[in-house]
Amino acid sequence: MTNFTKPFTQQEPIPESGIERAVEVMRSGRLHRYNTLAGELSETELLEKEYAEYQGVPYCLACASGGYALHVALKAAGLKQGEPVLTNAFTLAPVPGAINNAGGTVVLVEIDENYCVDLAHLEQMIEQSGSRFFMMSHMRGHLADMDAVVEICEKHGVTLIEDCAHTMGASWNGKKSGNFGRVACFSTQTYKHINSGEGGFLTTDDEELMARAVMHSGSYMLFERHGAAPSADVFADIRLDTPNYSGRMDNLRAAILRAQLPLLSENVDRWNARYRSLESGLSEIDGVVLSQRHDKEYFVGSSIQFRVPQLSGDEIPQFIGDCAAKGVELKWFGNADPQGFTSRYDSWRYLGDAPKLPQTLKILDTTFDMRVPLTFDLEDTAVIVQVIKEVLLSDGEKS
Ligand SMILES: *Cc1c(COP(=O)(O)O)cnc(C)c1O
Repeated sequence: MTNFTKPFTQQEPIPESGIERAVEVMRSGRLHRYNTLAGELSETELLEKEYAEYQGVPYCLACASGGYALHVALKAAGLKQGEPVLTNAFTLAPVPGAINNAGGTVVLVEIDENYCVDLAHLEQMIEQSGSRFFMMSHMRGHLADMDAVVEICEKHGVTLIEDCAHTMGASWNGKKSGNFGRVACFSTQTYKHINSGEGGFLTTDDEELMARAVMHSGSYMLFERHGAAPSADVFADIRLDTPNYSGRMDNLRAAILRAQLPLLSENVDRWNARYRSLESGLSEIDGVVLSQRHDKEYFVGSSIQFRVPQLSGDEIPQFIGDCAAKGVELKWFGNADPQGFTSRYDSWRYLGDAPKLPQTLKILDTTFDMRVPLTFDLEDTAVIVQVIKEVLLSDGEKS
């Protein structure tokens, strides 16, 4: 019988150049983004410029977390107290949390069997709720048909806000994820695609929205010290009209991220090689169902989802336990009691009465999720597949 021994939560080290730069920042003592010498550009300011270039947009704000970027995006896009905000029901807790924090009311939309938003239900809920905002979470890196999403949003005058926590580096039909809506948010938290412990970006091509976001982030009157922000005249009124919700990035994190950004494209290929290997191995196991990926979708395979529809709710804990005993850590989105990072919308009780979303629940009930860290190699993925195969076979024989 096969066993797997590597941890699923082990990151690669920060590149040496980033460590050296971070040490220099610490030696200088100038960790705050606006604490610069005359003529000096801070690491944070440089990072914003570099990320905007990477993303292919004029404006980028570096902030304290991805969840903070989502909150500020809603505020800067003009959300009013109590207004409804649509989001897909399969997402991570920071998304409904950001809507709540920004004063919005969460309106959940069904997903389909490929973990993407259900477009027919989206349109139905736009009409039913009258919402002006769709915070679209590209959960676990699954991109819906973005041409269709944009068309629906435009048709109904809905502002699209993209949560790209799992799609940094991904694209749809050659256009980067994050460049479809009015504003996009990214996370640089440890488990995402670049790692500063905590952190995030907001990107947009809307100069007024950006000016509001910069002021919200806590820039005092230092908004001219941004690497990728509109010119000072855009701030003329906005700087006085916009509350400060302090949530800046600091130079230490920025230094670490600047060293990782040039490696991102290469790392995306490395993730995808591992993903494809897992995908082809798992697809050969009887009873395992993988999601279909659209050929216009260029994703980042930093995690993989699969379903085993034949397993009943009672059999699943044993399957997960047996996999774990052999070193393969699976998350189960169907668990009624949320554990670790799992997220089922009916566990967010503060939203009020959970709506009935039978399609989403049916899919999540049999969905397993596995992280694909870059510290695994292709041989590791083969061992993981073998473990899952053996467990399914032996559990099947027992029942
Ligand atoms: C991680 C994550 C976020 C926000 O990230 P933080 O930086 O941890 O606040 C938002 N959406 C999704 C889907 C995420 O996984």
